[in-house]
Amino acid sequence: MSSSASVPDFAIEAIGLEKTYKGSGKLPPKQALKGIDLKIPTGSIFGLLGPNGAGKSTFINILSGLVTKTGGKASIWGFDIDDAPRSARAAIGVVPQEINMDPFFTPFESVELQAGFYGVPKSERRTVEILAAVGLEDKKDAYVRQLSGGMKRRLMVAKALVHAPPVLILDEPTAGVDVELRRSLWEYVVALNKAGTTIILTTHYLEEAQELCDEIAIINHGEVIACEPTEQLLRRLDHKTLVIQPSEAISTLPPALAELDAKLGSDGALSITFRSSETGIGRIIETVRAEGISIADLATTEPDLEDVFVSMTSAQ
Ligand code: ADP
Ligand code: MG
Repeated sequence: MSSSASVPDFAIEAIGLEKTYKGSGKLPPKQALKGIDLKIPTGSIFGLLGPNGAGKSTFINILSGLVTKTGGKASIWGFDIDDAPRSARAAIGVVPQEINMDPFFTPFESVELQAGFYGVPKSERRTVEILAAVGLEDKKDAYVRQLSGGMKRRLMVAKALVHAPPVLILDEPTAGVDVELRRSLWEYVVALNKAGTTIILTTHYLEEAQELCDEIAIINHGEVIACEPTEQLLRRLDHKTLVIQPSEAISTLPPALAELDAKLGSDGALSITFRSSETGIGRIIETVRAEGISIADLATTEPDLEDVFVSMTSAQ
């Protein structure tokens, strides 16, 4: 596990990782991470999902060395970040949340500089190949300031790959990226993963995480509140709510609807929460009609990240 030649079971391991940012002036200290335990399997696409302010970037920035932890341990590719910081950092490429680039370099120069920074010998650099892979081959000699937001983000991905790290971390990679570029970015990320790179991405979009990730950890207020294979997590969210507005007000809930766990709201709407894998909407509507209720309007709502938090925290 500690030898550089062997492949570890976990690309990243964190044990009781803590971070308290010092306060300054009127700002009180902020405990951003409250003891994070995470094992990220080698070879996976792992999602770190949580709302803004949850601590995702703090976690990533501790791994990349931008932020100093205040407690706990972390290792990357089997290398402890305290005991073997150079080996640990050599094993990851990080695409930070903020785009920060020198506007006066071309993409080619930027990637070359980064390779130099990582000590990649000239003979081993793959600058053009990497730029082509992220779809920037024809922009390689443009100034960075002439690139669109999506192109800049792809250039950040290229820069993170110069030293061919076995682990690639993308912090909120779709911020400022339009739908089409997002697609091509994901295709590239998935291809990298197929070729053996472990991918970790942070996002506050459940949909994004569920589409891409094999495993998802949910982090909220600096704590991991769930960590499981995506399929398993989604099964927990196997419910929808159907809201029906009857044409004529009903005063009491018919027994057949009470059996379906329907609720009668103060606005006269019926809401029925059901497991989408077990009950079809059709059956519910039939039951409602069979009770002589005519439907003026109906809508369904699906669980979102908010519901995940509610169901996770209430399950504890
Ligand atoms: P996320 O990436 O999930 O949105 P962050 O890790 O950026 O969350 O932030 C976690 C918490 O730590 C937030 O409350 C944020 O305001 C605070 N925080 C982040 N960076 C700093 C900093 N440099 N100084 C003080 N507080 C910070
Ligand atoms: Mg962040």
